[in-house]
Amino acid sequence: MGLFDALFRSSEILGIAEETLEFALESSEATHPHEYMGFLRGTDAQELGLEQDGLVITDVLVVPGTESNSVSATVRTSQIPNDVKALGSVHSHPNGVISPSAADLETFGRGSVHIIIGAPYRRSDWQAFDSEGHSTRLNVIDVELPDTDDFFDFTQADIDDDLRR
Ligand SMILES: [Zn+2]
Repeated sequence: MGLFDALFRSSEILGIAEETLEFALESSEATHPHEYMGFLRGTDAQELGLEQDGLVITDVLVVPGTESNSVSATVRTSQIPNDVKALGSVHSHPNGVISPSAADLETFGRGSVHIIIGAPYRRSDWQAFDSEGHSTRLNVIDVELPDTDDFFDFTQADIDDDLRR
């Protein structure tokens, strides 16, 4: 089993938490004109108080070592912690075109939902795609997240720590 196979697992995705979507939109805007890239992680719906089986996207994992420029962001897969279970990915298109590029389609097979956010990063400037690159509906769920500090993000200190090992 390759790293990416281990990273992604399939399970029914009910939608994305409103707060998580807003976080991704704000992050994309803050990263402009560079491309923002992260992986999506979910929380069991019942843990969030929903009476349904499935997962709600609640976290964006920003990968250290993402090389960003205004054209593309590539992830150095060797740097993705292998205990991370990702449902899919999110990235921005600073040129505002909300459709997958040829390079995007090559990576979409890993994971079941992929969000593209386009400039100018308004609430409606995003679209979800399935693993084949077709537009897919992703519900936005107004759910109370346990603690917004849970957003899994690496700080420069974490990266420095890694470098010292
Ligand atoms: Zn793209």
